[in-house]
Amino acid sequence: MLRIAGAGMAGLVAAARARELGADAVVLEKGDRAGGTMLLSSGVIWRHRTLADFRAECPGGDSALQECVIDELDAALDWLESLGAEATERETGNERTVGRRFDPRRLTEVLVNTAGDVRLRRPFVEADVLATGGFAARLARERGLLLRAAPWSEGEGMAYGLARGADLSAGMDEFYGRNLPAAVPEELFVPAAQVYGAHALVLDERGREFFEGDPSWSETDLVQATARLPVAAAWYVVDARTLRRRVRERTVAEIVELAREAGGDVRPAAELPFGLPRSPKLVEPPFLAVRVRPGVSHTNGGLRIDERARVLREDGSAIEGLYAAGADAGGFFAGGYGSGLAAALVFGRRAAETALGLPMREGA
Ligand SMILES: Cc1cc2nc3c(=O)[nH]c(=O)nc-3n(C[C@H](O)[C@H](O)[C@H](O)COP(=O)(O)OP(=O)(O)OC[C@H]3O[C@@H](n4cnc5c(N)ncnc54)[C@H](O)[C@@H]3O)c2cc1C
Repeated sequence: MLRIAGAGMAGLVAAARARELGADAVVLEKGDRAGGTMLLSSGVIWRHRTLADFRAECPGGDSALQECVIDELDAALDWLESLGAEATERETGNERTVGRRFDPRRLTEVLVNTAGDVRLRRPFVEADVLATGGFAARLARERGLLLRAAPWSEGEGMAYGLARGADLSAGMDEFYGRNLPAAVPEELFVPAAQVYGAHALVLDERGREFFEGDPSWSETDLVQATARLPVAAAWYVVDARTLRRRVRERTVAEIVELAREAGGDVRPAAELPFGLPRSPKLVEPPFLAVRVRPGVSHTNGGLRIDERARVLREDGSAIEGLYAAGADAGGFFAGGYGSGLAAALVFGRRAAETALGLPMREGA
């Protein structure tokens, strides 16, 4: 019986693959529902176009693990669809990436049905496959940030691995997240994200610019820089031109309006407690200011694994019978941003295959 900790993306995929291979698997889930943060996600499972792109975007990541995602994701997506989870879109809408969008509810339902034995409100005690989703909840609490994820990932998978002698990956202080206007309910995690930082004058609590240059397309670097401020919050100041601009199919004005409705601090820039620096981003009045705080969606660092999802010790040897996938496994995205769902899908499958003694995939 394969014991899998966590009924999110990686854990359900591991269980579904194990069942498909004819093995018994049980998934132990701490929360009162299956799906983890996957259920709250936008459901776009994607990869960078090439390994070189992935390396350039996430230079601190483990290139062997990154290569597995690039090589295997397309086949893994076909497999997911073969289970009955049809993609709702076959393109990501972003020229830098390749992937498919799924309805997260349907995806969860299909994976739970295929996985079979999923037990809710059952935090794991012993496990073979660690897929508890990293430690977003603990990181947010310890660093005074908002949580933009399911509430249960406290790092118990990682602690279990460490107790068994595991090593940790790069990027332990990094996370993927979005700047939010306030602590918003789950259904607003996607729409209330303030994703126009590249077009705003970005200031700290004392009115100083703190981010050098332009944010990356994902703005993950800007979110993490906001999180490193003594008061982990920033002001996005925009002018009338920017309010009319479209970002991700909505105008900035619409996104700002949602921030106001969600209880965020949205005010005329003249009401800020400091004077505005001169900026080419503020041309056409009126100027509007939105206070944002980082919301953590998943941690980037975690247990060090190899291409077969085996948890590794510091000397590079594999710990017998222990596998990790999803955000419990670190080393994919250090220094940048990638698809957490893709890493969870590819390595959830690999964890089950290795645990059940299947030969290595090509390239692994
Ligand atoms: C709003 C939002 C949008 C997103 N959009 C995308 C997107 O479009 N594309 C993308 O690639 N990524 C996206 N992500 C990120 C993606 O959801 C995560 O990277 C992915 O869910 C990670 O998979 P996982 O299996 O590691 O964790 P999860 O899916 O969170 O699963 C972990 C599971 O483990 C459980 N657990 C925790 N502790 C224990 C324990 N002690 N015992 C047993 N169970 C435990 C949790 O309750 C949870 O069910 C988004 C995230 C958010 C918040």
